[in-house]
Amino acid sequence: MKSFFSKFVLLFGALLAFAPVLGVDLFLDAYIRSGSDTRYQDSVNTLNNTSLNALNGALVAIKKVSNESPSLCTPTFIANVKKQLIANHMLAQMVVENSDRVQYCDGFGGETKYSVLSNELPISKNSGTISIVKIENIDEPFIKVSYAISNKKIISAFVHVSSDLSKILPSNIASAAYLSVRLSDGTNIISSGNLLDNKNIYTTVKDHSNITVTSNNNSHLIHSTLIIPFNTVRAGFAGLYTVLTIVALVLGLGVLMLVIYIFRNTNFNTFDLEKAITKGEFQPYYQPVVNLKTGQLLGCEVLVRWVKKDGTVLSPGFFIDLAESSGLAVPMTIKLMEQVREDLSELSKQQPELKIGINLFEGHFRNSIIVDDVKAIFSDSNVLFSQLVFEITERRPLTNQIAVDAVVGGLQALGCKLALDDAGTGYSNLAYMERLGVDIIKIDRVFVNMIGNGTSNVPILDGLISMAFDLDAEIIAEGIETEDQAVYLRARGVVQAQGFLFAPALKKDTYIELAQQMNKPAKPKLAKVEDNIKTSKKAA
Ligand code: CA
Ligand code: CA
Repeated sequence: MKSFFSKFVLLFGALLAFAPVLGVDLFLDAYIRSGSDTRYQDSVNTLNNTSLNALNGALVAIKKVSNESPSLCTPTFIANVKKQLIANHMLAQMVVENSDRVQYCDGFGGETKYSVLSNELPISKNSGTISIVKIENIDEPFIKVSYAISNKKIISAFVHVSSDLSKILPSNIASAAYLSVRLSDGTNIISSGNLLDNKNIYTTVKDHSNITVTSNNNSHLIHSTLIIPFNTVRAGFAGLYTVLTIVALVLGLGVLMLVIYIFRNTNFNTFDLEKAITKGEFQPYYQPVVNLKTGQLLGCEVLVRWVKKDGTVLSPGFFIDLAESSGLAVPMTIKLMEQVREDLSELSKQQPELKIGINLFEGHFRNSIIVDDVKAIFSDSNVLFSQLVFEITERRPLTNQIAVDAVVGGLQALGCKLALDDAGTGYSNLAYMERLGVDIIKIDRVFVNMIGNGTSNVPILDGLISMAFDLDAEIIAEGIETEDQAVYLRARGVVQAQGFLFAPALKKDTYIELAQQMNKPAKPKLAKVEDNIKTSKKAA
């Protein structure tokens, strides 16, 4: 049944069920990313500021030693330089040179050999320059801060560049992170970490595999860029990830179960129906028909329910069309009637006047087999033929007039009654009803629904009622839900009614109990007392 569509629905549902799990990933990623950007921004700013402060410190130191000892390279000068080197751990060395980089002395009174790796960039107007240098025998690059004391003499300080990630990051992140420190012209000073392959890594735009932050300090002298693999950051959220995934899985499982539940309950084929018939899963429920005047129970309509193994109960709306179109409505009705015979056996003995309405389908009116079936099922049972009312829906036209006559005639000959179901909704007109020869007209709920609060007139309903009277047929009004509707119908002479106002379709036991409660026979004891009263009156 609609198998392609239903498979599509199932697939869609399954995808929907996994949506929360996928959602966790997206949600958590976004959460981590937004938090990380700020967190690591602070870290990289701190790192970059350390280097910038070192540059400033170098300038201060240079000015100090030149002020305290204007004669450069004298023992006093060298002693002052040493003092600065000890006091400021970011300073590695100082040298005095001329503009051709001829060295006069270094902080230890000797010569420091080094090579220059970059252009000299001005720190700001008239306040020195910086460049990157490599000191002989030392791997680590230094920033050389130079300040001209006179036309001929320049004092330079070699400054460490702050690149120790372990001081600003947790160890697991520090070991996975990549750092690039560079001059404002882009020259790399230091790069460290795991992503060394990519020399221009600091230009990498934010991609999803890394978190990339660059220092945004005011100074443009040097910049530091930190790149952290996203997975490493994410690993720190493993606990949260697990919790959220479990929550999402539970949620997804719920959705999946709902989808499967809906799918299983709304998708079945003829084969499933056949199986259900054999297993006896189609069960009769009994909707009471009451007398609007006396409140007495007059009988019931048998309504089929598909009671599945798992306890799900399906209304006919889910399966009756398939049952009819596949022809399975006929064997289903037989099973149902057999069950009714069993269910209502005792009650029929106690209250043989209670009617039992059984729905027939268009398929029952193609030949007269149903008459034989009814005879076979109810002949030797407590359920009398006179209790049985067979309902013919007029929602579908009955075309084989000869067969229709044979079924209607055959059932009436047994003593059963025929009812026109859902009257007013389909093909009925007076001639059709008369031709059909039904005993009862069941007025469809749509007409009963037209009776609203305080409605004084529903012409179309009134017309149906009078048509039924004209045919000399009994009337059962269906779908009564309010007192107003009951009052309206009673005022127009309608006696029999069914609907939620009285009771829904009931399980066997409930129905039987209701029948015994509503139609209690007069208590013999009381009768006896009344008899006694009469006798004593006579005697008096
Ligand atoms: Ca019916
Ligand atoms: Ca009906």
